[in-house]
Amino acid sequence: MDKLIYLDHNATTPTDPRVLEEMLPYFNVSYYNPSSLYKSARDCRKAVEQARDKVASLLGAEPCEIAFTAGGTEANNFAIKGIAFANKSRKNHIITSKIEHHAVLVPCIWLESQGFEVTYLGVDKYGVVDLNELKNSITDHTVLITVMHANNEIGTIQPIKEIAELAHSHNIYFHTDAVQTVGKLPTQVQELGVGLLSLSGHKFYGPKGVGALYIKKGTLLDPLIHGGHHERDRRAGTENVPGIVGLGKACEIAQQEMGEEDKIKELRDRLWDGIKSKIPEVVLNGHPEQRLASTLSICVKYVEGESMLMDLDAHGICASSGSACAAGTAEPSHVLTAIGIPADLAHSSLRISLGKHNTKEEIEYVLKVFPQIIERLRALSPFWKK
Ligand SMILES: *Cc1c(COP(=O)(O)O)cnc(C)c1O
Repeated sequence: MDKLIYLDHNATTPTDPRVLEEMLPYFNVSYYNPSSLYKSARDCRKAVEQARDKVASLLGAEPCEIAFTAGGTEANNFAIKGIAFANKSRKNHIITSKIEHHAVLVPCIWLESQGFEVTYLGVDKYGVVDLNELKNSITDHTVLITVMHANNEIGTIQPIKEIAELAHSHNIYFHTDAVQTVGKLPTQVQELGVGLLSLSGHKFYGPKGVGALYIKKGTLLDPLIHGGHHERDRRAGTENVPGIVGLGKACEIAQQEMGEEDKIKELRDRLWDGIKSKIPEVVLNGHPEQRLASTLSICVKYVEGESMLMDLDAHGICASSGSACAAGTAEPSHVLTAIGIPADLAHSSLRISLGKHNTKEEIEYVLKVFPQIIERLRALSPFWKK
């Protein structure tokens, strides 16, 4: 194939051309500061507020419950540190899981250095949190539970509603990192029962560097970024107008086109069926059903993840081993470790994540070259016995 085959959509997605088109005028035509008072600037303000309406509509929220951020990482930091510090004098215990994205785990670890206590829940072999362990971890000091909606590496979807009910019944705030599900699965905040929810534009065909935090009405949290009165005093700084407009458009498109997921799942399953039948000793990571349609995480025994990536790259195929953030480190993925995969096997992991532009022809091409790649690499391995 002369065109690149992009199979790394959990890392980022291409910006939809309709999103880009909507953004462009806000760079050099309608470039005004939305806080300025003249008519042209008020039009920019209007564009920001229309985008907020679109984000709110996708989540079934009210526009005043949406705060724009510079992406998913900031939204997670804002939610977790914001709740922690706003309630510091009352409660200091946070519950999360061992398989969160680093944008949740690292703020939690940092909060431990600031006098907070954090419980990191284990998961079963599919990556699902244990509700009993969660129940038993709750104390009188628990202020926040933060558990992701779907995992970026293995795709496992958590029982968010059940967790939300538990949190609610104990008067504990509940935040979910929904960066991998917004725009792909229903993420109606009332239906899920969440009090705070993070999303990021570039994971669903919007621009990079812009995201949002849903904050249920009446929730007080300390700002992360201090300065002017932007975003109802919740996030200072001149609004990223083109980014916000693009995020709004991406939400609008997602709301209209969510049906694409069935097609993506069909391609992914075809890929897995083909891999399973052509390559011996491959294991599937994550939940067999309760999993993102996009995600296929596997371990190919006796082959290094990095070697597979390089060979796939040489064939014009973009994939990932573990998460992009952890790539290049020698440590095995914390997610694979948490689901009980031994370190040596975790180093044989490959994450393939599909998107709405992938085609059957691309999948058939991967199924043609991937088994050859594995055969070649295994022939070089001293551990692989014929
Ligand atoms: C990508 C990702 C993030 C980080 O979002 P950015 O917008 O890239 O900062 C957080 N959580 C999950 C689950 C992700 O997949």
